[in-house]
This record gives sequence, structure tokens and C-alpha cells, in this order.
Amino acid sequence: MTDRSLTGGHMLIEHRVVLSLGSNLGDRLENLQDAIDALFDAPGLTFLAISPVYETAPWGGVEQDDFLNVVVVAETLLTPETLLERSLSIEESMRRERVVRWGPRTLDIDIVQFGGIVSDDPRLTLPHPRAHERAFVLVPWAGVEPDAVLTGHGPVADLAAAAAGDQEVTRRDDLTLQPPA
Ligand code: AMP
Repeated sequence: MTDRSLTGGHMLIEHRVVLSLGSNLGDRLENLQDAIDALFDAPGLTFLAISPVYETAPWGGVEQDDFLNVVVVAETLLTPETLLERSLSIEESMRRERVVRWGPRTLDIDIVQFGGIVSDDPRLTLPHPRAHERAFVLVPWAGVEPDAVLTGHGPVADLAAAAAGDQEVTRRDDLTLQPPA
């Protein structure tokens, strides 16, 4: 739902955002927790919900360890660009490896959806251009928001069921993340 408020003469529009976080290097669970804490540590992003943790086989054919993935739902008054900058700087501060495309990474943060905004800017494509086919995004998202709709693609639960048919995604109920401190 979109909420509007007036602050300092500027109209601020609150958007519901969906973020996908993944890690397959080092202490994967700790990396995800640190990233969640960092994302919400600065103003402008309000935590709503976090999905269960899933373990997923890597995407893209590079030989590497499995990922842990989660989806976080939030509301924000930030612009998409500001949220992207925040995400990239958190990735950077956690020394993400960028040596091999689709290779191992300490932390990956993708903006899956930002309200109903559609953008084909390569720096920030919205919704995320591969979200509709990735079980590691769709399955956790459907788990935390069963009625969600991916803009331009339809119900997330249907997309998740289709994608989960040929991609390994295992729910890890033994691993839990805390809402941001
Ligand atoms: P990747 O290594 O595949 O995660 O790509 C990272 C780059 O994708 C970043 O430099 C972003 O500028 C760009 N990008 C484009 N769309 C998005 C999005 N929806 N979420 C996160 N990064 C994006």
C-alpha cells in the first residue's frame, strides 16, 4: 500500500520494497545477519518481514558452494537509487568477491521489487530482471508474502512453484535470522 506524507514541503511516497540477500562464502548466516542489521541501521527503511532461510544450489554453472538466501520485505521513503547505493556499499564493506560473474560472494543484495516501479536502466533494473525465474528469490518471497505479485509477471506463489521444479531450494529451519537490531 502506498502512503503519502508531507515533510518540509516535499511529498514523500512510501514504497514497499522486496530485497533478496544471498551468501556463499565464509559464515554465510552471519553475513546475512550483518547485512540485514546494516541495511536498517540508517534512516529511511522500515522493516516489515523476513523469510525463512533457504539453501540453494548456485546459479550460472560456476563450481562453488551452496548459497544461503533470504528475502526481506520493508517500507521505504528512500529513492530506488539511494537504496541501491546503500546496498552496494554494504556489499563493498563486506568485501564481496567480484572476480567471476555468478561466482562465490560474501554477500549479494538485489532489489527485487520497488513498489510498482518499472525501469530498464542497467544500473537499476526494476523489477530485478531475473527474479521471475529464480527459485531462490521466488520461494522465500512466496513464503513470507503468499499473496505477493511480481510486477509484469504475476503471482509470486505461481512463479515459485514453476521455478522450484528444476532448481534445488531447501528450507533450513535450523537456521534463523533475527529482525534488525
Ligand atoms: P550482480 O553482480 O549480478 O548482482 O550485479 C550487480 C550490479 O547490478 C550492480 O552494480 C547494480 O548496479 C546492477 N543492478 C541492476 N538492477 C539491479 C537490481 N534490481 N538490484 C540490484 N542491483 C542491480
